[in-house]
Amino acid sequence: MTLTLMVISSYTSQKQSLIDNTLSLNYASAVQMSQTLDSLFYSMQESLKYAATYFPDMDNSNTKELNSTLDLVRNSSNFFNSVSLVNKEGVIRSTSPYSQASVGHHVSSNAAKEAVKLRASYISEAYQTPRTKRRIVFVSEPIFDSAGEYQGTIGGNIFLQENNILSLSFGSQLKTSNGSYFFIVDKKGTLLFHPNTNRIGENVSKNEVVQKLLANKNGKEQYKNLAGVDSLAGYYKVPSTDWGVVIVSPTQTVYDQLNHHIRMLLLYTSVPFLILTLIVVRVARKLASPFAMLADLVNQVDKGQVDLPVIKPHWNREADLLTRAVVGALANFRKQTNQLVYDARTDVLTGMNNRRTFEEVIQEWIQDEAPFSIIVLDIDRFKSINDTFGHHAGDEVLKHIANIIQLSVRPEDVCARFGGEEFVVLLRNSESNVAFEIAERIRITVEESILPIDRSVTISAGIAEYPKHSTTSTELFHLADNALYQAKEEGRNRTVTIQSVIK
Ligand code: GH3
Ligand code: MG
Ligand code: MG
Repeated sequence: MTLTLMVISSYTSQKQSLIDNTLSLNYASAVQMSQTLDSLFYSMQESLKYAATYFPDMDNSNTKELNSTLDLVRNSSNFFNSVSLVNKEGVIRSTSPYSQASVGHHVSSNAAKEAVKLRASYISEAYQTPRTKRRIVFVSEPIFDSAGEYQGTIGGNIFLQENNILSLSFGSQLKTSNGSYFFIVDKKGTLLFHPNTNRIGENVSKNEVVQKLLANKNGKEQYKNLAGVDSLAGYYKVPSTDWGVVIVSPTQTVYDQLNHHIRMLLLYTSVPFLILTLIVVRVARKLASPFAMLADLVNQVDKGQVDLPVIKPHWNREADLLTRAVVGALANFRKQTNQLVYDARTDVLTGMNNRRTFEEVIQEWIQDEAPFSIIVLDIDRFKSINDTFGHHAGDEVLKHIANIIQLSVRPEDVCARFGGEEFVVLLRNSESNVAFEIAERIRITVEESILPIDRSVTISAGIAEYPKHSTTSTELFHLADNALYQAKEEGRNRTVTIQSVIK
C-alpha cells in the first residue's frame, strides 16, 4: 500500500510539475524567439537603410553597376532571398539575383506598390506571388538623394518556403528530441514558418492559441491543436511585425517522461521494498511465535495433557506478559485438576484410596489377568466403640487401623477404605495363603497396638483369590465378604479364606 501510495502521489505531483515546467519553458522560449525575431527585423531594416545610401541617383546610374552593387548588398548578409531596387515611378531598376523578366518593368505586387507609395520603412504581410506561387514577406526602405529628394525604394524578399534567414536562425530548434516544435503566424493567422513547409501559407486562425495571439495576448496553456492533439503551448507576439510565435510540446511527451520516471522509481524502490518485506515478515513471525506457542498449549488442555514449557523471557513485553499469565494459569489449573483427581480417588478421613479407586483397580487387574488375592477387613464391634467413646474417638481408631494396614503391605499392593469401618486390600501376584499371612499380620498388629482409646480393638478378615475362586470382581468381593461373615460367626478376631465357590 505504501509503495502504491508513493507511486500514485509521485505520478500526480510529477505530472503537474512537468506540465507546468513545459508550459513555462515553452513560454520563455517564445519570448526569447520573439525578441530574436524583433532584433532580426531591426537588423534587416538597418542593413537596407545603409544599402539605400549606395543608390542616391539610381535613374542616372549604369545598370551593370547597380546590379553588382545590389549583389554585394544581398550577399553581404544572408537576410534576403532576393533584393530589388525600384525607382519612384515604381519601375524595377535592378534585382539580385538578376531577373531579366523583371528589370525595366513596373512592380506588380501590392506590397511593392505600397512600399513605393509609402516612402517609409515597410514590412509587408505574407503574400503569394501570382506567377511563381512563392510565399513572400517583403521588407523595404525608402531611398533619398543628398538633397533629401525621394528616389525610390530598396526592398528585400524572404521566401518563406525556401531556405531563408528564419530557417537559418531557428531551424536547429525544430529538431528537439522530445517532439516539441514552433511555428510563426502573421497578424491574420497565416502560417509563416512551420516545420512542415507544406503548411506555410495555411490560415490557422481557428487554433485556440492563434486566436489568443490575434487578440494581442501572450501566454501559455494546455490546449487541443487543430489535429486534436493535446498540447502544451507558450505563445508571444513579435512587436515589430505583429506576428506571433508559438512553441508547442505534445502533452504525450510529458506522459512519456512521467512513465520513464515511474519505471525508474519502481526499479530503484523494488529491491529495498523486497528486503523490507522480508524483514517485516520475519519480525511478524517472531512477534507471533509466542502466541502460536500459547495456542498449542491451550490446544493441549483440550486433549487432556499439558506439558508446561519453561518460560523464557521474550523481547516483546505484551507477548512476555501473556505467556507468563497463560502458563501461570495453566499451572494453577493443573494443580487444581490434580487436587480434584486426588480428592475423587481418596478417602478424606484416612487418606487411603476410596471405594471408587478400589473398583477401578480391581477391574484393571482382572483385565490384565494377573493373579491376585483380596482381603476384606472389618472392625469388630465398632458400634460399641462409637457408643462408648464417641464418634471422634471412633474416627481416630479408623485412622489408626488404616495406618497399620498401609504399613503392612508392599508398595505394589492396593489398600482402600471400602466404607464405614470396612477396608479392602488387593495383593498383586499373591495366592490366598500369602494373603492369609498378611491378613493375620494385620490382625495381630491391630490387636497388639496401642490405641488412641483405652481399650483394645480387633478386626476380622475374609479372603478370596483371583482367578482361583472367581473371575468377576463382584463375585470375588462377594466371596471375600462371605468369608468375613464366616469369621464374624466363628467368634471374630480371626481370618477366613473362602473354601468353596458360591454359585
Ligand atoms: P460387627 O463386629 O458385627 O462388625 O459389629 P459392628 O458394631 O462393628 O457392626 P455395625 O455394622 O453394626 O456397626 C458399624 C458401625 O460403624 C456403625 C457406625 O456408627 C460406625 N461407623 C461407620 N462409619 C463410621 C465413621 O466414619 N466414623 C465413626 N466414628 N464411626 C463409623
Ligand atoms: Mg461393618
Ligand atoms: Mg464391624
